[in-house]
Amino acid sequence: MQRIPAVCVVGSLNMDLTITTKKMPKQGETVIGEGFETYPGGKGANQAVAAARVGAKVTMIGAVGTDTFGNSLLENLSQEGINVEGISKISDVATGVASIIMSDHDNRIIVASGANAYVTPTLIDQHREHIYNSDIVLVQLETPIDAIVRTMEIANEYDIPVIVNPAPFRELPEAILTGSTFLTPNEIELVAMKRQSFSDSIREKIILTKGAEGVQFFEKGKSKVVKSHKVKVADTTGAGDTFNGALAAQLGSGVLLADAVNYANAAAALSVTKLGAQSGMPTDEEVKQFLK
Ligand code: ADP
Repeated sequence: MQRIPAVCVVGSLNMDLTITTKKMPKQGETVIGEGFETYPGGKGANQAVAAARVGAKVTMIGAVGTDTFGNSLLENLSQEGINVEGISKISDVATGVASIIMSDHDNRIIVASGANAYVTPTLIDQHREHIYNSDIVLVQLETPIDAIVRTMEIANEYDIPVIVNPAPFRELPEAILTGSTFLTPNEIELVAMKRQSFSDSIREKIILTKGAEGVQFFEKGKSKVVKSHKVKVADTTGAGDTFNGALAAQLGSGVLLADAVNYANAAAALSVTKLGAQSGMPTDEEVKQFLK
């Protein structure tokens, strides 16, 4: 990295409540599962952790409830060295949770957004100094879209680049298509995006992650492909989040797009070799060692 980048992540924080089971319950059935774990998650928080691990100075804007899950999510981010001043505590609202049932053959996930739904344009305005004091802004689509649009308006006003990770996919308003600097869909999200019509200038903002196939992006109007690294896969959860966090850190530090993509591709490859989303995210040292 040329210099330590300031990355502002605007997005979701969830507590993932994971039960592992040999048998999925059928309708009306109760099953005794194997184990239960809680993991800090949410795409926003995951990407903030990924950027911090590779050495960025990260500030997160978001919302949690005043419950114990909210406190532990804030504690987790603070331990990663992330500035949590931009995360509001909303009273009488539950912190976002993802209820996950995991068996060998099937995963079922249901998210209750809780406090994440309280990330409004007003909340963004309250924390706007974190946006204009950053080198780059990173957003996803797990928080209300009008707040994302407001984030982009502030970033655009100060000429700060914005990476939009369009996940989970929702139709993108014109303001997001035009206000973004880069769009980072995976292949499923790209298919959904293509249902909307967009111009060549929007198409060239796309950095497409293709799982084990690597990454496709545009450089000076030409399409380029970076192959993924051959690694032993333990768990691909959080690969995209690692990619986005690492990419933001690199671009924020001023490196060229191709070098940033190359680095993020390596960071994401390392993340899939370990179990868990946040727990598998590599440090800058580990990425550099891997790329040697
Ligand atoms: P998401 O996790 O959002 O679905 P992808 O599956 O496209 O996103 O993965 C994001 C990036 O993670 C890929 O572009 C690649 O760099 C890396 N990656 C994902 N799966 C693998 C894999 N099996 N081997 C190596 N790298 C991988």
